[in-house]
Amino acid sequence: MLDDVKRFDMSKRSKRQRLLPLAWALSYPDIIKHKNKITKVNMKGLKPPYLLLCNHNAFMDFKVATAAVFPHRANYVVAIDGFLKREWLLRAVGCICKRKFTNDIVLIKQLKYVIDRGDIAVVYPEARYSLCGTTAVLPESLGKLAKLFKVPVVTLICHGHHINSPLWNLTDRKLKGTQATMKQILTADELKTKSVEEINEILRNEFYYDDFAWQKENGIIINFPKRAEGLHKVLYQCPKCKAEYKMSSKGEILRCDACGKEWEMTELGELKATKGKTEFSHIPDWYEWERKNVRREINDGKYYFHSAVRVDSLPNADGYIDLGKGTLTHDKNGFLLEGEYKGEKYVVEKPVASLYSCHIEYEYLGKFGDCVDLNTNTDTYYIYPEGKDFSVTKIALATEELYNAEMERKKQADEKN
Ligand SMILES: [Zn+2]
Repeated sequence: MLDDVKRFDMSKRSKRQRLLPLAWALSYPDIIKHKNKITKVNMKGLKPPYLLLCNHNAFMDFKVATAAVFPHRANYVVAIDGFLKREWLLRAVGCICKRKFTNDIVLIKQLKYVIDRGDIAVVYPEARYSLCGTTAVLPESLGKLAKLFKVPVVTLICHGHHINSPLWNLTDRKLKGTQATMKQILTADELKTKSVEEINEILRNEFYYDDFAWQKENGIIINFPKRAEGLHKVLYQCPKCKAEYKMSSKGEILRCDACGKEWEMTELGELKATKGKTEFSHIPDWYEWERKNVRREINDGKYYFHSAVRVDSLPNADGYIDLGKGTLTHDKNGFLLEGEYKGEKYVVEKPVASLYSCHIEYEYLGKFGDCVDLNTNTDTYYIYPEGKDFSVTKIALATEELYNAEMERKKQADEKN
């Protein structure tokens, strides 16, 4: 399919960052506007090359990273949709293209060039924006990557970017006082003596963050009147009546349209039931409760999603190609996308073990609604389920829990043998 379409050239060697003043000009106004403060730990005397691992909540992350590494050059790994129609610009400011949640050797080579020429390789290992301001899953391959490069590993953890502009409603809340911590967590010598598992453990600990907890601790007030609008995309299940896909939001109110229960989102980012008991005041706790319910469905063999979908493809950075209608199935075998384009049938399969997480978008580009995006090494499919009885958040949670369940089964089987 799409045999005559040119593919994005992933192997084109990344350029050294040119136009550094342009990168700075694009970054500093927002840093100043949000009064961002960067704290540096163990960074004294550290010169590139090094590997910089950053958490990912909003576009602001790139700007803070640019300021944090000033005045050194860096190359950033960016997903292909970021390159759309502006490939030349992103190449000029040093970006490297990647399709999310794919294993590709080419990317490792690209990062290696960056390190070998003495620059900073910037990676966002969560590979997607956080859904509710907490750490998303880190790939197991990260420890291996760090060991392979043999250069210091630095983390940059930003706080406040989810609160300021959450994935579920990007409107800038004009938060002042965002923070970031830049920390050298492993020296080149330490990498030599530590195992991949030990490195992964250190990374997981350093990557822990919770933006809503940070908001409360720091007493950050968000008085944006529509602050709850969009939150139902993440909190899709009612904790009172357990109905799914019936949640809605308006102004500062989150509501279940099945049982009528309402919660107010306070200026400190907490939830409060307008009547009766507050099941979850902390938004990430509600989200983790949904995860548990999905896990139960998986364990009981009941998880199954099937829907008619609309599909767009993004083979290169020129634009989306409408592939028309198809069907998407998600169950214990993973994802199965089936469709027909110009009279030719196609199938995209993503077995459970091949995806530890998946990327989703809410109201993507403001056009066709919520979507799941699935990647092969040469294409990205944006898949929009039809109707209202679904939640891409649930599909993402199920992807992670199907993977976890399979890994646990494998581990148990290995232990028996
Ligand atoms: Zn309800």
